[in-house]
Amino acid sequence: MLQSFPWVFDGAKFLRNCTLEWRAGRFSALTSSQSESPGNKNLLALPGLINLHSHLELTSLAGKLPRLVAFPDWVASLRQQIQGWTPSDYLESARAGARQLWTTGTTTVLDVGNSGANLNLLQESPLRILAMQEILGLGGEVSRERMTHAQAILEAYPGQWPAERSVAGICAHSIYGCNSSVFGACAGYSQSRGQPFTFHLEESSEEHQLLALGSGPMRAWLDGVFPLHEFTSVGPTGLERALAMQMPRRSVIAHGNHLSAKDISTLVRLDATVVHCPQSRAWFGHESIDVEACRSHGVRLCLGSDSLASAESLSLWEQMRLFHKLHPNVPVKDVLAMVTSLPGDALVQDQSLGRIGVGAFADLVIVALPQAFDGENWEWLLEEPIQIKQVIIHGDIVL
Ligand SMILES: [Zn+2]
Repeated sequence: MLQSFPWVFDGAKFLRNCTLEWRAGRFSALTSSQSESPGNKNLLALPGLINLHSHLELTSLAGKLPRLVAFPDWVASLRQQIQGWTPSDYLESARAGARQLWTTGTTTVLDVGNSGANLNLLQESPLRILAMQEILGLGGEVSRERMTHAQAILEAYPGQWPAERSVAGICAHSIYGCNSSVFGACAGYSQSRGQPFTFHLEESSEEHQLLALGSGPMRAWLDGVFPLHEFTSVGPTGLERALAMQMPRRSVIAHGNHLSAKDISTLVRLDATVVHCPQSRAWFGHESIDVEACRSHGVRLCLGSDSLASAESLSLWEQMRLFHKLHPNVPVKDVLAMVTSLPGDALVQDQSLGRIGVGAFADLVIVALPQAFDGENWEWLLEEPIQIKQVIIHGDIVL
């Protein structure tokens, strides 16, 4: 397959007049020239977008949960809403979420689920999906049982990443949702399959208080709902607790809103990734991770959507738009890298994901350029609604 574009974003920079060639799911050639190629006017090709944090099975909760409430109250509300959901409710919800992703240009997703619904997507969705089964035990015995159960289920699914296009795996909910041995076992399981290990860390001030001081409303909630939890009262900060619990190198941390500058420099040493979810942060009114500190220390900061239980949209364009509004000094190409090459690096180490270049996976999103585009100012990409013309995953046109 061969296609020419007047503009290409390769994951790091904009290129002029490019012809892309791909076969067997990977780019085989990329040539650029001074002169415009005929046809394909007014198009920009980007690497397929990568969403490093979603819960697709919660898509049906769109607009149903309260905003700007304390985190334990939101969790209680979530638990109430999903009470009585059947496996087919979860599946329908996950399918709707997956569709929202690939129709808005996301081609790879690191998805976290509790119901097993995302496993169905491995076969039926065109997405490149890492379908993680979340271990949330809040007590050693319960989480160990869930871990064993999840491992037994996963034997039937492809797991070796990135050898397979989509894989199933295990992740930990958080460092208070599992005890130390289960958290470490989840990490070890992910590493044995070559997969990234992901978990939530310090999303809310209530969790920050719990992790730093062992007290506060989240502690009261834990003690009330899960009296058998093994969370200890006194401990260091969230990241230090995670490290003490065998958090591996190259972990993918969801949120990290309360990470300090010292934590951020530690994450650089560990080659870890932080997934910032702009709409979800705004939904709660949570503090934001220090974007300037991330950029100056060079930590791998990416963007994710989280679920529609705490976001208006699963579209990464919407996440980028809000991020750009709040951080207008971050160059457009750097924001685009947060949903292409940076998450690509977080998921695979050989630059084959989230980039347009020879050897990379042929995942593309093709958008229309505005009539009045001056060839220099790319702000419109993050400020105006995007018209998606085509989505290609592993060389196949899916939209
Ligand atoms: Zn989450």
